[in-house]
Amino acid sequence: MIYKRSSALFAEAEKVIPGGVNSPVRAFKGVGGTPIFVKEAKGAYLFDEDGNRLIDYINSWGPMILGHAHKPVVDAVVEKAKKGTSFGMPTEIETKIAELAVLMVPNIDKIRFVNSGTEACMSAVRLARGFTGKDKVIKFAGCYHGHSDSFLIQAGSGASTFGTPNSPGVTQGTAKDTLLAKYNDIANVEQLIKANNNEIACVIIEPVAGNMGCIPPKEGFLQALRSLCDAHNILLIFDEVMTGFRLAKGGAQELFNVKADIVCFGKVIGGGLPVGAFAARNEIMNYLAPLGPVYQAGTLSGNPLAMAAGLAMISALNNDAEIFKRLEEKTKYLHQGIANVLTQNNVVYTINRVGSMISVHFDEGAVTDFDTAAKGNNDTFKKFFHGLLNQGVYIAPSAFETWFITDALTYEDLDFTINAVNQVAKTL
Ligand SMILES: *Cc1c(COP(=O)(O)O)cnc(C)c1O
Repeated sequence: MIYKRSSALFAEAEKVIPGGVNSPVRAFKGVGGTPIFVKEAKGAYLFDEDGNRLIDYINSWGPMILGHAHKPVVDAVVEKAKKGTSFGMPTEIETKIAELAVLMVPNIDKIRFVNSGTEACMSAVRLARGFTGKDKVIKFAGCYHGHSDSFLIQAGSGASTFGTPNSPGVTQGTAKDTLLAKYNDIANVEQLIKANNNEIACVIIEPVAGNMGCIPPKEGFLQALRSLCDAHNILLIFDEVMTGFRLAKGGAQELFNVKADIVCFGKVIGGGLPVGAFAARNEIMNYLAPLGPVYQAGTLSGNPLAMAAGLAMISALNNDAEIFKRLEEKTKYLHQGIANVLTQNNVVYTINRVGSMISVHFDEGAVTDFDTAAKGNNDTFKKFFHGLLNQGVYIAPSAFETWFITDALTYEDLDFTINAVNQVAKTL
């Protein structure tokens, strides 16, 4: 494939935008080469500036669960835009989408809309701290909760007591309140809680991890986390920015039948516009300003275009009784097809999948946490990525990302993809 115009556009972008991109993973640093510039997209396909057609397995990192430029979403945005794009005053559509979200998602009474998943998680933690009167947060290595200071933390050498920042600009003062646990390791969480008796406000987790590839929770892990939190007066926050409205109408809470105290949303709930949200039962949500003492605000929060897109999207999901089953079946088909051709070509791999989230790891052991995810062969991944790209199949340009399956994919697209994997597998 030819990427002449994309390369030229990237060179121009690099002059005026740091690294040429507005979010680092787009820059292809993990796989080499220059990023592809999109001109337009429809359904399961991206069309780039050089006229190439790519089958899209990222789908804007999750939101486009029904495919690109889904008509009801586009129509809703266009109609709203004609009536004004922002007022900074209440609008009826905010209540409509809130009502539907509360109906679809278990264990929530109220929801507050923000502009990104980052904001949702940041605000959820502030609310948990305000509500419990405690300061510390437990997060899991390899889970991503946006780029706010408290979450840019990794383990210090050998120490799991205090986190150390993994970005300059995050202060030690902030880092010391974030404790790092191992995903899928309940004994490790228990230890951290015991060692920080009565100081922990909340545990935040991706109920299915999606930012170190796709990693499912081990059987009983989320339930055990729930019991631990109950026993120690700790709030359990499910970061469902990726899993919300994707794994089921009610997200991971519904799929695993585990109740979270606060749930964070983003991605699908905005239908491709900048939206995040966090939700909880009344007792907790009433702690937020203007009802309660915990401050949280936003000039563009609940923006009419964003709410129109989000409402059209979650309505479509709510009205389609088969959607999550269909997505799962397509993903399972892809899973089996890829597994078959990789096996036939003697490639060492592990595939993880939950619902319509799937990832291919080039290592043979089970991938259950950040350490096992990091063991995968990155050179193999780079070849795999570029090999697929050359055949018109676009997966995330990093070994630590999930593929997101969209309902716009046909079985022909999936077969095309499996065949492309077969071609690449011969070269690995
Ligand atoms: C994408 C993501 C975020 C951050 O959302 P942004 O909208 O990019 O700020 C937070 N948590 C999870 C689990 C995510 O996947």
